[in-house]
Amino acid sequence: MARAAMVECRPMIRGVCVYCGSQTGTDPRFREAAVELGRALAARAITLVYGGGSIGLMGVVADAALAAGGRVTGVIPSFLCTAELAHAGLTEQVVVDGMHTRKRVMFERSDAFIALPGGFGTLDEVLEMITWRQLGRHERPIIFLNVAGFFDPLIRHFDGAIESGFVRPELRSLYSVAGSVDEALAIAGAGARP
Ligand code: AMP
Repeated sequence: MARAAMVECRPMIRGVCVYCGSQTGTDPRFREAAVELGRALAARAITLVYGGGSIGLMGVVADAALAAGGRVTGVIPSFLCTAELAHAGLTEQVVVDGMHTRKRVMFERSDAFIALPGGFGTLDEVLEMITWRQLGRHERPIIFLNVAGFFDPLIRHFDGAIESGFVRPELRSLYSVAGSVDEALAIAGAGARP
């Protein structure tokens, strides 16, 4: 008798939040990774959710996804519309009243979170998702896309916090570190290209 086919039931990934710098950084690999990630999301028909700016790696990832036919949702506070030059060509631009609303809306629209290289803003946003997960507010994947070893010092700091007894060792599983875009998307649950 034929055995019933096993059907893998994975929830559909609809939106992936990308946190990244409002600068492009000094290493050209940062920009290349942003382009690759934007294209890869578009190829998988996954909506890119990001901070809505047109500058730095934020603009690079958005432009790459749009150029590849992808959907892009920006979430930008009204007071940053000038400073971060709100991207005018997005599928959807959500203008919100401040930073906290921005974080909440980005969270609500996203099934996973990927951090590309960035500055304080990038760190603030991704660390908040880690602490929300630590507090049981969600169980969504959080991935550092470790382009050119950019996040190595931060991961070492996390390990040091564990060794120093400030973070329980099992909390290492709150985040993942990926060495490539494909690996990051696999961890996010986005799998291979359709
Ligand atoms: P940066 O990594 O500093 O270049 O900033 C990247 C993005 O993070 C920019 O869009 C900033 O506006 C944003 N950002 C900075 N601080 C916060 C915050 N507290 N909440 C939400 N977004 C932030």
